[in-house]
Amino acid sequence: MYEGVVQNLIDELGQLPGVGPKSAQRIAFHLLAADPADVKRLAHALLEVKEKVRFCRVCGNVASEEECRICRDPRRDTHVICVVEESKDVVAIERTREFRGTYHVLGGAISPIDGIGPDDLRIRELMTRLADGRVTELILATDPNLEGEATATYLARLVKPMGVKVTRLASGLPVGGDLEYADEVTLGRAFEGRRLLDV
Ligand SMILES: [Zn+2]
Repeated sequence: MYEGVVQNLIDELGQLPGVGPKSAQRIAFHLLAADPADVKRLAHALLEVKEKVRFCRVCGNVASEEECRICRDPRRDTHVICVVEESKDVVAIERTREFRGTYHVLGGAISPIDGIGPDDLRIRELMTRLADGRVTELILATDPNLEGEATATYLARLVKPMGVKVTRLASGLPVGGDLEYADEVTLGRAFEGRRLLDV
């Protein structure tokens, strides 16, 4: 529709989550009109994040070293693991200051429609962490929507034979939503009021 390079940019932007064709076009033309220095800064940030950011070898959270800031912190309680879908959920829970344990980032949720099964998530890594029997509680903080619930149920069943206490965040979180959109107070309360998950 547009000259080669402009259309390329629109196509690339259109691949991003939540960016439809109209938004892609709007962003592209915004960049075309923007100050070259601003665009360079954006391009640099994009490249830098791919070069420098890694995923923690323990929990899968984004990290700038081999292990993330939380896994490196000796004050964190390694007997409690909170399972979340994405690194952004770690940030949301950290904001509540309710949790002093460690995390496990799955990298998504089970979703047959999108072709995402248990093997596509970091579930094997989670089982490895549970293998030595030192973890006493697993908090399932996947999103309160269909995929998140399915993932929580799947994990609870998988972990049950290992004798680990499995809990789920209390209701009060907006159903069908994303954990990251819950405000700090609601999320903090949901954490405090977490219940045993019986499967
Ligand atoms: Zn970590």
